[in-house]
Amino acid sequence: METIKELLEKEQFNKADIVRLLELNKADSKLLFLKSKEVKKQYVGEKVYLRGLIEFSNICAKDCLYCGIRKSNNSNERYNIADEDILSAVKFANESNYGSVVLQSGELKSPVFTKRVEDLVKQISSAFDPKMGITLSCGEQDENTYSKWKEAGADRYLLRIETSNEALFYRIHPRDENHNFQNRLNSLQLLKDLGYQTGTGIMVGLPTQTIEDIADDILFMQEYDMDMCGIGPYIESENTPLAKNYKNPLDLDERFQLALKTISILRIMMKDINIAASTALQSIDKVGREKAINVAANIFMPNITPTDFRKEYLLYDNKPCIDESASECQSCVIGRIALTGNEVAYGELGTSKHYLNRMAN
Ligand code: SAH
Ligand code: SF4
Repeated sequence: METIKELLEKEQFNKADIVRLLELNKADSKLLFLKSKEVKKQYVGEKVYLRGLIEFSNICAKDCLYCGIRKSNNSNERYNIADEDILSAVKFANESNYGSVVLQSGELKSPVFTKRVEDLVKQISSAFDPKMGITLSCGEQDENTYSKWKEAGADRYLLRIETSNEALFYRIHPRDENHNFQNRLNSLQLLKDLGYQTGTGIMVGLPTQTIEDIADDILFMQEYDMDMCGIGPYIESENTPLAKNYKNPLDLDERFQLALKTISILRIMMKDINIAASTALQSIDKVGREKAINVAANIFMPNITPTDFRKEYLLYDNKPCIDESASECQSCVIGRIALTGNEVAYGELGTSKHYLNRMAN
């Protein structure tokens, strides 16, 4: 069998290679991380692009079994941030030179919701010159809605597949018409066909998820030719069925290590994509996001949600940055990125190079 060093020199990894890399112990993982760091430097550079994250509503019609803001969880106070407060947050991002914003929420399919998002996107896209990048993360929608949002000025969309294993998908979602694996796949395809920079991702360390599942997820993201990826550890959220009914065999540190290896392998395999340093990494390790930037990630999403609402957008337990203000997050982010030796790409859109290459061909 080839050595890890030899394996890392291969042009492409097959499933067995990926499994072997995901199984590396802490000491051997260093070789993997060195390789992904080198690939990152060569293909996307050592710049970190900022996306101001606004969690504008925690009202959700879905009941994903892992999520703290699922419809059936009555322990949250539901909120919908007023348009003018969302726009002030966007203005803050612009003044802070963030270059782009992400509007994220629970999933609603009502005409009122889709029209509201459309109007917000229109206002944001015409408010600044040069235009800010606008990413949406509002779940599965129909073609007409995705298309209207695109025309309004949204250029990017994040929709994690969560797991590409259909059986596991139905273990972490209710089996009903609202939670349909095929529809999630179709949504990703629609977004790509409409010309969005399309991002997906998974949770690592889900109950019953195997290393082989994660290897398949990595191959799935490559096959679907995604422009951006967000990978985070699964973290229990109390009051959710998944947290109550499953004892997770992996502890949080093991999930963290696995998530880090997953993004490193992705960076080596999908060299020019954007990879986010996910917030969930920081809830396990205080410098989790810095570690992700160090080895593979090039996107950081400072939270600019008005502070009063943050404690109600608890997707999982121990979510970090819920008491800080947008400006506190700003100085923290700068310090964190400086620690990694990477450079903050102020005022830059940070368009996925993979997307640019995909469009040029
Ligand atoms: N409603 C939208 C966006 C908000 S949820 C959607 O579902 O796409 C954003 C992401 O949070 C989800 O894709 C999921 O991967 C992550 N998330 C939710 N609950 C989580 C948990 N318990 N642990 C880790 N990540 C979680
Ligand atoms: Fe709603 Fe998204 Fe949470 Fe599912 S993951 S319950 S769609 S907010």
